[in-house]
Amino acid sequence: MSLLKQPVINLQGIGAQTANRLEKLGLRTVQDLLFHLPHRYEDRTRVCPIGALTVGMTALVCGKIDVIDVMPRGRKSLMCKISDGTGGVWLRFFHFSANQYNVLKPDTWLCVFAETRYGMAGLEMVHPDYSIVSGPESAVTDTRLTPVYPLTEGLSQTVIRKAIKQALQCCEQNPQLLADWIPARILQDYRYPSLAEAVQTLHAPDDSVTVEALQAGDVPALKRLAFEELLAHHLRLSSLKQQAKVWPAPVFAEDSQITGHFLRSLPFTLTRAQQRVIGEIVADCRQAKPMMRLVQGDVGSGKTIVAAYSALLAVAAGYQVALMAPTELLAEQHFANFSGWFAGFAVQVSFLSGQSKGRARQAVLQGLADGTVNLIIGTHALFQDAVQFHNLGLVIIDEQHRFGVHQRLALREKSQTGSRPHQLVMTATPIPRTLAMLQYADLDVSIIDELPPGRQPIVTRVIPGERRADVVARINEWVGKHRQAYWVCTLIEESDVLQCQAAEKTAELLKEALPNVRIGLVHGRMKSAAKEAVMQDFKHHRLDLLVATTVIEVGVDVPNAGLMIIENPERLGLSQLHQLRGRVGRGEGDSYCLLMYQAPLSDTAKQRLGILRDSNDGFVIAEKDLQLRGPGEVMGTRQTGAMHFKIADLQRDGDLIAIIAQISGQLFADTPEAIPLLCDRWLDTQTLYAEV
Ligand code: ADP
Ligand code: MG
Repeated sequence: MSLLKQPVINLQGIGAQTANRLEKLGLRTVQDLLFHLPHRYEDRTRVCPIGALTVGMTALVCGKIDVIDVMPRGRKSLMCKISDGTGGVWLRFFHFSANQYNVLKPDTWLCVFAETRYGMAGLEMVHPDYSIVSGPESAVTDTRLTPVYPLTEGLSQTVIRKAIKQALQCCEQNPQLLADWIPARILQDYRYPSLAEAVQTLHAPDDSVTVEALQAGDVPALKRLAFEELLAHHLRLSSLKQQAKVWPAPVFAEDSQITGHFLRSLPFTLTRAQQRVIGEIVADCRQAKPMMRLVQGDVGSGKTIVAAYSALLAVAAGYQVALMAPTELLAEQHFANFSGWFAGFAVQVSFLSGQSKGRARQAVLQGLADGTVNLIIGTHALFQDAVQFHNLGLVIIDEQHRFGVHQRLALREKSQTGSRPHQLVMTATPIPRTLAMLQYADLDVSIIDELPPGRQPIVTRVIPGERRADVVARINEWVGKHRQAYWVCTLIEESDVLQCQAAEKTAELLKEALPNVRIGLVHGRMKSAAKEAVMQDFKHHRLDLLVATTVIEVGVDVPNAGLMIIENPERLGLSQLHQLRGRVGRGEGDSYCLLMYQAPLSDTAKQRLGILRDSNDGFVIAEKDLQLRGPGEVMGTRQTGAMHFKIADLQRDGDLIAIIAQISGQLFADTPEAIPLLCDRWLDTQTLYAEV
């Protein structure tokens, strides 16, 4: 076992209890300690004149005790004033011992370190670190900045500092432990220090760096580590892709009679972008190795038909297809669409979700196992062990951002034929190119960058909540023109319950305000059949207004619905808003999206909603959102597949991503042997994206 992989308990002074506490911080091994960086630093390298202290300043001062007293009033505390000729400052202790009181005699010199606050009698330091010194000339200063580490309950700075110090010493004695696996040439190009230097600098900074630069994350040592970590993630994903391609996969030779017939049966012709992406998929599936392709396309760009075409390729070649959608609603809609499109073809389409029960479910499972079902459309339920395929050849995942990488890979294991199925994943969450390079490094990416013709741009307005009555009147008028509308309720918390309650309340209020409008309600907590019934009513215009939670975010398609009101849009990410808005503007008529915010709105929120008002292009919106909020936010916490880093911060280190993709390629070409070492250093087995 490498010294770095030793459990922390092997270090001196670390018992079971401390080890448990470190574990809470995710620190299990000596190496984990090395990469547990201080979140701030204290400067005890020089003594600050007391007269120069200001409120909020954390500093080392040295002074002689003038007065010491126990204050009985209020909270009992020990007060002690020190001065150094330039000024004086009070020290305050709420907890103190008799011994302390006896030792802190007037005329004693103290070296004190703490944050300066404004107290009752002027500047004061509460519970400072202090030591008694013989005089100002013997003040003890450190040669290095003092690291302050993120802690957990029961763990002290002293304990963690000691542990990390041992880890550092261990590396000093065994320099090969922190060997550089990034070629020296690359480190030189970017003027990065070696890994060992970087680690040393961050834990025990010498005078080559300032506290300010460290705090701002603006030191080469930190960039060096973030760089290596991001690189490891990229290398890992790229390796996954390469390893996956080693497997055999079924070959789908296109039967142009069948696909030609399919295209002619559609009520529209494909856009050029759709044709191009289909071309890329056809080329992938002709190879005897698994396709791993992501189709990125704005809402309404027509990804579903691309999926249908791919499914037809597979079924025509004699293989089964699984299409998985993130919500029941969307899966049901796909089922309806695909059943319609494939009605004239020899494709048996079935549906499976968590709601499928009893005999119907058994029949579907049987059909999948014996191969009579060619295309299964469903939700997460497709992962269940009971689901066995006869010969799964293609896995399609819609709205990929809702699933983790694991889930995507798990379906792949369902192949029974010793080969791996092709994979097609679709997302309507455009992420900026640079981020896509990192996040989707395990996939080939196709982009549908064109909307079907005849779409009217959606007119978007940003409206304060006080104008609710106008908005309600507008719905009345709109419905009078035989058009339909959505009213979307949002909440900050991703609490289904609250969101559903809010939607229920809103629906009631709107029913009172709009007695002539047929209003339906759909939310995530309704039974699938009830939801389906409401959606069907809306689709067939038996309802005029659909009040909904964000469950309609993905996929729902009703061309006559051209007006959408989104309540409290400031609570959602721009990409999510853009997706929601994509529900309207699907038909011939004009369409509107009213963003009804709750005043007051912060400046950033104003700007963000402005971006949405001014653009209908998901990629443009994502880029602007990236500039405004930084990559961490844009990649979003909603994404179950989002990456987690120890050191890299996409907000701070976003500039590195573009370089990384390039360097990753160089490493594969020049030093492939370093790749597993690098990945092993940064990615623990638990956080892996699943084994290939
Ligand atoms: P998304 O990319 O958001 O999944 P969909 O696949 O749901 O978009 O397509 C949106 C709508 O556009 C659907 O009603 C679909 O039938 C229609 N559509 C798709 N491709 C075309 C096309 N080439 N021409 C006209 N309409 C199209
Ligand atoms: Mg879709």
